[in-house]
Amino acid sequence: MDELTLKIEKPKTFCGIIGVYGAEGASNYVYYGLNALQHRGQEAAGIVTRERTADRIFFNVHKKTGLVSDVFKDDKVLHEILRGDAAIGHNRYSTTGAAESGKNVQPIVVNYRKGNLAIAHNGNLTNSHRLRDELTGAGTLFQTTTDTEIILHLIARSQKETVIEQVYEALQQIRGAFSLVILSDNQLIVARDPYGFRPLALGKLGDAFIAASETCALDVIGAEYVRDVEPGEVVVIDDEAVEGGEVRSIFLPDIPKQSRHCIFEFIYFSRPDSKIFGESVDKVRRKIGKGLAEEAPVQNDEDEKLVVISVPDSSNTATLGYVSQSLKMGIKAKFEIGLIRSHYIGRTFIQPSQDVRDLKVKMKFNTVKGVLKGRKVVIVDDSIVRGTTSKQLVRLIREAEPSEVHFRVSSPPIMHPCYYGMDFPSEKELFANQFDGDIEKMTDELNVDSLSYLSLEKLLDSVPIDERRNYCTACFSGEYPTEVESNSKEEFEANINEARE
Ligand code: SF4
Repeated sequence: MDELTLKIEKPKTFCGIIGVYGAEGASNYVYYGLNALQHRGQEAAGIVTRERTADRIFFNVHKKTGLVSDVFKDDKVLHEILRGDAAIGHNRYSTTGAAESGKNVQPIVVNYRKGNLAIAHNGNLTNSHRLRDELTGAGTLFQTTTDTEIILHLIARSQKETVIEQVYEALQQIRGAFSLVILSDNQLIVARDPYGFRPLALGKLGDAFIAASETCALDVIGAEYVRDVEPGEVVVIDDEAVEGGEVRSIFLPDIPKQSRHCIFEFIYFSRPDSKIFGESVDKVRRKIGKGLAEEAPVQNDEDEKLVVISVPDSSNTATLGYVSQSLKMGIKAKFEIGLIRSHYIGRTFIQPSQDVRDLKVKMKFNTVKGVLKGRKVVIVDDSIVRGTTSKQLVRLIREAEPSEVHFRVSSPPIMHPCYYGMDFPSEKELFANQFDGDIEKMTDELNVDSLSYLSLEKLLDSVPIDERRNYCTACFSGEYPTEVESNSKEEFEANINEARE
């Protein structure tokens, strides 16, 4: 029998990160925060704490592959091992380094001449290949295949006097996307790349400070959202900050006038109950759904209501927007739960003769046949990556015998890979790219009555843009906001393949 790990085709983020400074039992808060950030990475999790005694500082570590609840299922780990008043944590979805390789699980911890240092990273560096070559050439020994370890080595090799100066110098050498939490003996340093690709929020819980990828991690521990960490900002949180209630912050040089936040965070990755880039994800996602209905309405049949279903869970909010706008436009539309998603699948064993892909989709989704039979159905999905899951879903829906199936996508066609921290396949594997964006051909391939994507213009209309805020749209437009070194592109593709093996 073949063993099969079930993964449904969706873009994956690299990670979720959280840091807490100044709260006894910090690992508990980090644990709950990581649970809230589980959607950002499900393959591994880890927590590092700083514990101070009268004469020593210890860094305690626990990290493993698996979901947060599995990695920390033993209470003793949180209460007896991960002691201390400062902690950082990380959920990993691996693309740099083999998925199941325990050595790549973050946070990464080292001990160097300034003491202990632990780091957790969300994003992807675009000059990692060159930096790794330079460091290896200078005698650096790497313990992992992640680009995150490069940052640690750059900090450790810096000749600057203080940890903050060393971090600051290291961050000036890296390019691409990084939201970071770095724990040293005496500080929590929180940093974001100059373009602000990935979200990073700052909050307070009593006197303690919290930094997390999304505000849903602050909510779960009862922390108050204070503000986002600014693009290019390096925030220093230490005992003085906890006592005085204020953090210190320094800015990296060459911060562009406008940020380039990842617009895909709004479309799919972030939770709808989070606020990212200064805006509610729920609000933007509804607007996106409304825009899709404006651009690509489906008319109801004379006396029959149009049935609009979402691909749960990530498309639910956009679907609500689609239905409300359809109603405004005089279309008799009804939001229905036509697809049920199982949240409990993990591993299964299949006979080699079974159709693996059909089984994957059927284990994850089922239709509510009574809702679909004989109806004109619109299915709203947030994106199409390779197209394989979409095809299987349409097949599943057709088995329920609807009269028509119309596919609506709440993002533009994905034509290009992402080098800033999302797991998209190479160009030739992307569905829209395979058909050169030809809607007619893609409609035939999916076997639907009609197919429409949201336009890039409408997408940009749905997000807040001002003199400081703007967005990366490279996976749709091919316009990468930063240079991506070509050997780093090759390394990136090799790592993606390695991670999938
Ligand atoms: S390429 Fe796409 S997924 Fe990657 S950062 Fe840009 S918008 Fe986000």
